[in-house]
Amino acid sequence: MAYPASVTRLIEALKQLPGVGTRTAERLTFHLLRAPETELRELSDAILALAESVHACSRCHNLAECDPCPICADTSRETTRILVVEQPRDVAAFEDAGWRGLYHVLLGHVNPLEGIEARDLTIADLVARVTEGGVREVVLATDPDYEGDATALHVRRALSALDVSVTRIARGVASGSAIEYSNAAMLADSLSGRSKMDGPS
Ligand SMILES: [Zn+2]
Repeated sequence: MAYPASVTRLIEALKQLPGVGTRTAERLTFHLLRAPETELRELSDAILALAESVHACSRCHNLAECDPCPICADTSRETTRILVVEQPRDVAAFEDAGWRGLYHVLLGHVNPLEGIEARDLTIADLVARVTEGGVREVVLATDPDYEGDATALHVRRALSALDVSVTRIARGVASGSAIEYSNAAMLADSLSGRSKMDGPS
């Protein structure tokens, strides 16, 4: 049976979300059909507010409602250290783990199969930040999987000509797992056990 056009439109829109297939999209849509209009307005306002007020920080590329983000703007943090992560959600994980330095969000990882190359990430902006001076250590906290390791190597290479110590977090994070699913204690261990990353030979 064909649904009314507006129902089909919402189902198709919901299916664009990660992890949402046709059945889930239909279930959510029929739930919303029965919801009071105030609830629907609150939901659509919340979604629109994302587009209007959340932006990437121009320094670290973390998501924030102001620019620079509260972390970059916080002068009480250790500004000589930058922790490099793949996604904004990793920032939240390392905040819980007690990291007090700054961050740099790459917005992804190198993945040749998906056509994502090093130049698609924010590596050039990281190099610019380090070139400005004042940074003593860059800690690479990309995911401990194949793509994360490859990405860390790219960043290491990009920083090789600069006077900065480059370290990689320890393997306290289970190999092949993702930062976002690691607990705070595990991430704190991986930070304290970080080691110097060899330069390109
Ligand atoms: Zn920032």
